[in-house]
Parts: sequence; C-alpha cells; structure tokens
Amino acid sequence: KGDPRLQAISEAIRVVPHFPKTGVYLSIYIYIYILYLYMNNVSRHNNSAIEPQGLQGHCGYFFVDRYRDMDISVVAGIEARGFMFGPSIALAIGAKFVPLRKPRKLPGEVISEAYELEYGTDCLEMHVGAVEPRERAVIIDDLVATGGTLSAATRLLERMGAEVVECACVIGLPEVKGQRRLNGKPLYILVEPR
Ligand code: AMP
Repeated sequence: KGDPRLQAISEAIRVVPHFPKTGVYLSIYIYIYILYLYMNNVSRHNNSAIEPQGLQGHCGYFFVDRYRDMDISVVAGIEARGFMFGPSIALAIGAKFVPLRKPRKLPGEVISEAYELEYGTDCLEMHVGAVEPRERAVIIDDLVATGGTLSAATRLLERMGAEVVECACVIGLPEVKGQRRLNGKPLYILVEPR
C-alpha cells in the first residue's frame, strides 16, 4: 500500500459496465479489463511516473519479488489472462510454466476439474505429467471474484501431487475483499478496485 507502482496498476484498471453481457441475467456486469494494463504499457498515453518499465513490468515485479526465493518450480497460469502474467514470472524465477486451459484445448492426456460460475459451470484442464509429485507451485490469474476458478486450479495441481504454495492475482473483486486466504491457503492480491 502506498507504493506508486501499485497506485499506477490500480489506476490502469478500467471497470467496464455491461461487458461482455447485459440483459436478463446481468443488470450490471462489471468487467475489469486487465488487458488495459497492456495497452497502456504499449501506448504510454497515460500518466505514470513509473515509466520506462511500464505497468506490465510492475505487476511482474511484485510477483517475481515475492516468489523468487520461495523454492517454486511451477508457475501455473489460468487461461486466458493468467497466460499474460505467468510465463514471464516463471522465466524470471527459474520455474516452468504450466498452462491450465479451458476444455478440449490441450492435446494428449489431461485431467479436468469443473467449477461453478455465476450461471452454469465451466472446467479447467491440465496435462498429465505437467508437474511432478511434491513440486511447489504458485497459480496466477488476472482476477479473483468468488475464487471458484482458483480452487479448481488448486485441485488440478494437488491431484498430481504438487503443493500449491499460493494463488496470486492482480486484482481481487469485493467478493474476496480483505480476504487473504482461499481453501486455507494464502491468496496474494496486488490491488483492489477503487
Ligand atoms: P472466480 O472464479 O469467480 O474467482 O472468477 C475469476 C475468473 O473469472 C478469472 O479467470 C477472471 O478472469 C474471470 N472473471 C470473473 N469475474 C470477472 C470480472 N468482473 N471481470 C473480469 N474477469 C472476471
């Protein structure tokens, strides 16, 4: 808190109402457009006392700084926006990146875990053999709302015998406000909506 980089990350996140859906089910759907962080990074049209590294780098900075000495060998990223943060963090801390994907995207043998959405269910898949038993993993996504997605991701890794050390997100919605744990494990959140 109070770090100008966190402030800049927070200011770069846009809340877009009625996206991607409006109507019967969702009267106000607030969509936190994390991609804006990237656009901002490229176009540099917004503020920032914190160039030249850019906002993407600043998100990465906090995660890398946190995980570099925690003996992590797996960074698991959740499709799709976890893929924007995970690989560079993995590279920086000397871990492998493991993609957790939506159904029927991964070839070969997979395991799956279903999870509840606001309306309906969805599913995440992981390659069998992507992690070894007892490997220490962190799971990365852009945003946590109910925590259902991260919980399914945690189950996938644990079924393969890995130890999920922590889940990490750029932003936590009010559903998890102030909550720093998920399924009894640490939950690390960079910023909360303003
Ligand atoms: P949850 O499982 O409820 O914690 O939802 C988190 C997942 O759904 C993440 O993969 C997010 O990218 C996505 N998500 C949920 N709610 C939103 C939202 N309001 N804006 C953007 N992404 C969201």
